[in-house]
Amino acid sequence: MLYLFISAELSENVKKLYVDDTEVSPAEYSFKLKCTKCGEDAEKVINFNLFEKHEIQGGKSEATFTMKCKFCESDNNIMANAFEPCLFAQQEEHSDNDKRKKYGLNGNKIDINNFAAIMQLDSRGWEIIDFLYTALPFKAELNSGKIMDCQFEDDGSWYDYDDDSSEEVYITDFNYKIEKGK
Ligand SMILES: [Zn+2]
Repeated sequence: MLYLFISAELSENVKKLYVDDTEVSPAEYSFKLKCTKCGEDAEKVINFNLFEKHEIQGGKSEATFTMKCKFCESDNNIMANAFEPCLFAQQEEHSDNDKRKKYGLNGNKIDINNFAAIMQLDSRGWEIIDFLYTALPFKAELNSGKIMDCQFEDDGSWYDYDDDSSEEVYITDFNYKIEKGK
């Protein structure tokens, strides 16, 4: 299994960050892929949401995303599921370490202590080479309980203003990585 981890620097008044992703209004995740069977990059950016299901050729099981490689014609697919719900300002204190251990995500071996694993990917034939997050809708929950819409610029930052507290709200250094686990 692969895991999509995110991290960011949250301003002091922000408690947590999460993708605005519900069954009523599913978020579209965008990736660039490479075929692990022939090593060629897929030419276009692909999108999927975590609620869609497609039959895998042969009809025996389902996947979130299926696409035939243009070069070697392999029927590759990805099964993706939500994993950890949000990134906390103090992520280390909120990580479910038992769950992480169970899935082989050992923070001592890989640098993930300040990251949240927002997605689990069973990727059969596709390697993820880029996660394009600037079109992805996020929500930032403030310490006051207020929730604000958040979308990142190319440099991984978001700046806004909370009228209720007359304070700036911002997130910087948005970063991601893909790590292997169980
Ligand atoms: Zn291929």
